[in-house]
Amino acid sequence: MKIARVMVNLSLDRVFDYLIPDKFAAIVSPGAKVEVPFGRSSRKAFVVAVRDDSSYPLHKLKEISDVFEEHPKISSNLLRLGEWMADYYCCARELAVKTLLPSPVRTGKIKTRKKKRYYIADMKAAEDFIFKNERKKKIQCAIIKRIASEPGVSDESLANSFKNPRALLSRLVAGALAREESSDSYRDPFEGVQTIRKPPPELTDEQRKVVEDIFSHLDSSPENPGTFLLHGVTGSGKTEIYLRVLRKILDQGREAIVLVPEIALTPQTTERFRSRFGDEVSVLHSALSDGERHDEWMRIHKGKARIAIGARSALFAPFRKLGAIIVDEEHEPSYKQEESPRYNARDVAVMRGHIEKALVILGSATPSLESYHNAMTGKYRLCELTRRVDDRLMPQVRILDMRIESKAGGRLFSKPLMDAIGQRLSAGEQTMIFLNRKGFATNMTCLACGWTAECGQCSVSYTYHKERQSLSCHLCGDIIPAPSFCPSCGDRQIRFSGVGTEKIEMLCKALFKGASVARMDAETMTGRDNYEKVLSSFRTGKIQILVGTQMIAKGLDFPNVTLVGIVCADLSLRIPDFRSEERTFQLLTQVAGRAGRGERPGEVIIQTYSPSNPAIQFAVKHDFKSFYEYEIGLRKSFLYPPLTHMLAIHLRGENEDAIVAEGDRILQELKPLISSETRVSGPTPSPTPKIKGKFRYIIILRGSKFAEIKRKIKSLLYAQKRDKNIEIHADADPVNLGR
Ligand code: ADP
Ligand code: ZN
Ligand code: ZN
Repeated sequence: MKIARVMVNLSLDRVFDYLIPDKFAAIVSPGAKVEVPFGRSSRKAFVVAVRDDSSYPLHKLKEISDVFEEHPKISSNLLRLGEWMADYYCCARELAVKTLLPSPVRTGKIKTRKKKRYYIADMKAAEDFIFKNERKKKIQCAIIKRIASEPGVSDESLANSFKNPRALLSRLVAGALAREESSDSYRDPFEGVQTIRKPPPELTDEQRKVVEDIFSHLDSSPENPGTFLLHGVTGSGKTEIYLRVLRKILDQGREAIVLVPEIALTPQTTERFRSRFGDEVSVLHSALSDGERHDEWMRIHKGKARIAIGARSALFAPFRKLGAIIVDEEHEPSYKQEESPRYNARDVAVMRGHIEKALVILGSATPSLESYHNAMTGKYRLCELTRRVDDRLMPQVRILDMRIESKAGGRLFSKPLMDAIGQRLSAGEQTMIFLNRKGFATNMTCLACGWTAECGQCSVSYTYHKERQSLSCHLCGDIIPAPSFCPSCGDRQIRFSGVGTEKIEMLCKALFKGASVARMDAETMTGRDNYEKVLSSFRTGKIQILVGTQMIAKGLDFPNVTLVGIVCADLSLRIPDFRSEERTFQLLTQVAGRAGRGERPGEVIIQTYSPSNPAIQFAVKHDFKSFYEYEIGLRKSFLYPPLTHMLAIHLRGENEDAIVAEGDRILQELKPLISSETRVSGPTPSPTPKIKGKFRYIIILRGSKFAEIKRKIKSLLYAQKRDKNIEIHADADPVNLGR
């Protein structure tokens, strides 16, 4: 008898061996879902390997009790990827493998709907039947006639014409008059959406060079196509490069994945792919219903769709002839999942590409330091688009020093920004106003006693929302009514400071009477429909001024936007994180990139209190390379990524002393494995020291060799007798240290 090594649906980070009874021998293979006796009950499990022997005595092994034959198998390449993720991101194998399947597929609760089609089986018999029964069996005869006139008519459409035709249809089939065929019927998120196929445009010279470069590499090393970094300024036509690569991959009979940040999954983006490839495209995003998600996944699994576009999790689309993975806006922090497994989809894409021998393209106008460093050291191949399509100019960027401007009058809107908006309004052009903070005010302070509104559970002040008259905590999500007088001393003199998008929207409405202003942030965009409604009113010009957070920074392409105003460029600089300058550079460049994408040139106005900051200065000049040189120098001298790898260990709990003691204990255990070049800091309070009443501490390791340390951490984390009052998790290549 063969032995199946399985992982049980529990977070144990262990595998178990079971015997495969003969009756299941033919259907149990790696990736299969099975049921096994476990303790006193039974559990669902995934087979990770089939072997001839076991490290346990054979007579002690139990048998697999059932096999879910209908459940799609995970491909061996994806299983390998899952195992790699478990090691690299320090999480239980079951958890990593779980992410490979969307939950509607994994749980098996949702089934593919079947559509039945009907044909006349025997025309002669059918005619005889009608001849004999025309009067007695009116409905049956009518159904036969309908099938005869419309071969392949579906059960659905018959049910629309006849009342409960099911029993009659079965009788016709049983009597060999009609024949029934059943096929999969997929729920279609694009039902009713008309797509106009467009021919590809002529490539620009720069685009052609890039495409040729990629193709010639693809042809010369099909076994090891590797990773390309496509650095192209905003509006340079990166998407057209992706489309050409996809065409080639499909022509080779292979499949492809396109990752975009969730926020960029607008109809505008997906339409560009569908207008080239139609139904070959499957779109996966968080707003799909479980049924739609299940069906889109099945369409891929059954080879009905060959391109999958989606956010993070689309990376695990179950293709078996994967030819390419494209990661657009590869620098986006949202590619990192902030819960276990804490993977970065961009980096896992490179790994999946490696395993599947698929080409990987990472694209961005502002590459991450990590990826650009990899390109500089030859690990990735670099290609560049330095100019906008049609020789459109990069927008003119102006810095306004708010230390001076605020004295001249406008504390939030400087005079030059107001004038510029006014000009756009009279010229019939559009403006985007960016501020990376939602709410009305971020501080509510009593002028009489100094009381400030703070979340009692978290170490952060409440954000005040004027329209809703509420206070919210952006860390724990708590929302309470806003007091109209000081809860501490009863005074009514409350001061609001720290402006957010709600205030900016109100100000715009007050300053530009008659203009139509809309706001786009996490507060107003609660549903996907909302988001699309605002974007389409903006596209058609119904909205003249769009105020928003980073939601408006990405991927949007509105040719009539000629002005982008950045209210306060300093916010992201103040975040205590070694990447704050990188983030600032990226944000400013991306937001600025929304201006001047049409025929008229664009203008960008940046208001800031730190006009000489290098990140701001380089963004003004659209000079990514100089920014990179400057920033990589800093990372080198302080030994930060990408010059080192970073591994964070987070500890959380209600008892601060116990957390620190546990942190010290873990460090003691790791000590023998930590090399002398590795820097260790902590345990120290994390950048957000308290959330939901729990204290947060962090240990940070910076170095190069972490494989053994990670293995050790895993064994500590999944140890049976650990103090369960302290939550611990590891985060490899952390993106947000405060999380
Ligand atoms: P990026 O992603 O680099 O910011 P896009 O791919 O959005 O740039 O391209 C910017 C605009 O230029 C889009 O409207 C796109 O349709 C158009 N475009 C791209 N390539 C070409 C081309 N070769 N000829 C004409 N228009 C193009
Ligand atoms: Zn007070
Ligand atoms: Zn809170």
